[in-house]
Amino acid sequence: MVSLSLRRRGTDAIVTYGPRHRFIRQVEISRGGNTGELYSRCSGKSRCKGLHIRAIGAGPTGLACAIEAQKIGLKVIVVDKGCLVNSLFHYPANMVFFTTPELLEIGDIPFTTAQQKPTREEALEYYRKVSEYYHLDLRQYEWVKTVVGEDGNFSITATDRAGRPHDYHTGKVIVSTGYYDLANQLTIPGEELSKVSHYYREPHPYYGTDVLVIGGKNSAAIAALDLWRHGARVTLVHRDAQVHHHVKYWIKPDIENRIKNGDIEAYFNSSVQEIGIDHVVVNTPRGPIRLKNDFVLALIGYHPDYDFLRSMGIELSDQQCRPVCDPVSLESNVPGVYVAGVIVAGSRTNEIFIENGRFHGKQIADDLKRKLRS
Ligand SMILES: Cc1cc2nc3c(=O)[nH]c(=O)nc-3n(C[C@H](O)[C@H](O)[C@H](O)COP(=O)(O)OP(=O)(O)OC[C@H]3O[C@@H](n4cnc5c(N)ncnc54)[C@H](O)[C@@H]3O)c2cc1C
Repeated sequence: MVSLSLRRRGTDAIVTYGPRHRFIRQVEISRGGNTGELYSRCSGKSRCKGLHIRAIGAGPTGLACAIEAQKIGLKVIVVDKGCLVNSLFHYPANMVFFTTPELLEIGDIPFTTAQQKPTREEALEYYRKVSEYYHLDLRQYEWVKTVVGEDGNFSITATDRAGRPHDYHTGKVIVSTGYYDLANQLTIPGEELSKVSHYYREPHPYYGTDVLVIGGKNSAAIAALDLWRHGARVTLVHRDAQVHHHVKYWIKPDIENRIKNGDIEAYFNSSVQEIGIDHVVVNTPRGPIRLKNDFVLALIGYHPDYDFLRSMGIELSDQQCRPVCDPVSLESNVPGVYVAGVIVAGSRTNEIFIENGRFHGKQIADDLKRKLRS
């Protein structure tokens, strides 16, 4: 007989494996420790180990997964390389979400905002409160580097802020690592210069300077408008003939009219060929032109960490790098490893966002519940 002690916020749960692989598990449901205890029966040692879930990534999806798994009585630890909802924290400081608040809700906790759409700050506050409400076991600033093992018995190695390694064991793994850490590259000379960024934060540092914004989707359009409104001289370069049709209906006429009016200079069907310290060279339909330049914001999108997914044995599709997974359970081709959130869409990051990725938690929890009971 083997005993395993699970410690959670002062409450110990003892899981005991008997000779016939039957055990009684004591779990806390829903909110850790506050809503009572549930006793249920399952059988088999590997299933028992499945009581431990580790969610990699504390974005909205990772949190939703942790909440839903916790609701069915599983013990979940959420690990993030940065802070809670790290991607949202790094979004433009004054951003307003496109989505109305009820579509960003997780764990059935209402999200109300002063205006029609939430600000970044309101969203950060909301996800903090939800994590607190559910007593989520969060490990911030732990960067997961490797996941090895097999269903019911995975080993995870993470490094903390000081670079110290930490090893963990878990029965199941949910990977919800998002896409915002890895920016798509231009792969042109000068991209490595410090004046080039793939992230836009706020307009103030660009006041009175020549800024080139590359891209034609929401992030580029919003940044170009914000920069122009705060005193930067803005040029927009986009490889297509016009701003993308996905640009939100209240932003599109704004950027188009600023361009028409000559407030923002724009080059369509164009691409940047080279970035220098004080200039850029742009390939336009009329040939290359050289523009005076202080800063470049290359807002051309982001992509999931494909190498990290592959390192776990997760297969990716050829063209769009979508992880091979069951579309209902979201279990990947590696048994016991689930994928969730925007990574499920591979390179098509505009297909899954908070609005729909938040439901992945329930899909995964339903599968785990079914497996534990069978
Ligand atoms: C400017 C902007 C505005 C947006 N507005 C909206 C909107 O209005 N509505 C909407 O629905 N969507 C919006 N989105 C998209 C939305 O934010 C993303 O689709 C969503 O954050 C994806 O959620 P996720 O949990 O899958 O990934 P993320 O939120 O990116 O979370 C992934 C987490 O994993 C962590 N992580 C990554 N690798 C590791 C590792 N190896 N170890 C540990 N942790 C790791 C990261 O630090 C991060 O916290 C917007 C995106 C941007 C860029």
